Amino acid sequence: MSITAAALRELHRLHQQLADLRGRLDRGPKQIRVRAVNLAQAEERLLAAQAEVKSSRIALDQKQLQLKTGEAKIVDLRGKLNACSSNREYQALTDQIAAAEMANSVLSDEILEAMERLDELRKGVGDCESLVAKAKEELTKIQQTVQMQEQSLTQDVRRVEANLLEAERALPADFRDAYRRVVNAKNEDAMAPVEGESCGGCFQQLTPNMMSDLALSKIVFCKVCGRLLYTPEDRSPGRAK
Ligand SMILES: [Zn+2]
Repeated sequence: MSITAAALRELHRLHQQLADLRGRLDRGPKQIRVRAVNLAQAEERLLAAQAEVKSSRIALDQKQLQLKTGEAKIVDLRGKLNACSSNREYQALTDQIAAAEMANSVLSDEILEAMERLDELRKGVGDCESLVAKAKEELTKIQQTVQMQEQSLTQDVRRVEANLLEAERALPADFRDAYRRVVNAKNEDAMAPVEGESCGGCFQQLTPNMMSDLALSKIVFCKVCGRLLYTPEDRSPGRAK
């Protein structure tokens, strides 16, 4: 059971390439989800700001109505002053008018404050609307980018998968099961180059026996991490393809 280091190197390169492409494909939908959440949050804040404007508007309307009622009451009281028949009654009416005027004055101040507050709240709604528009724009942009990348990445994945299948077809028949097991378990980490005299995956020192097996193009797995080992290009210049 033997296989060239060049064939193993190529296999590992294809596995790593495939893992990288699939990772990039996976990231697309995640990027979209992040932007979609941003948009949902911006929309929620807008709804809350709009609701606050609405309730403040209602409260202001009520105060304005109250003020009108107060003003009407004063007009009414002043009318009664003319028809007044005693000093006591006149004094009582004058006191009532003064109290109603005081109440109206307080109400007027409150109305002014409420109007200013309403202006601020409306500005806040405007800000929220801009943020929603911006979040929508970002979502659309990332959706388009991801869609475009997805097409080319999917093509790349198919191409590398085909190359990998072809490279795997060239593996010795009696080695395929062991290869499949390690690839299924570790994906792109199924293989590792030898670094110095150690496994490039887990850095376990290899035995002289393993080193000589590698030199003979025998199939060698790391005894610690289980990776399929191969010699890197610069170690076997005579055998590079
Ligand atoms: Zn190892």
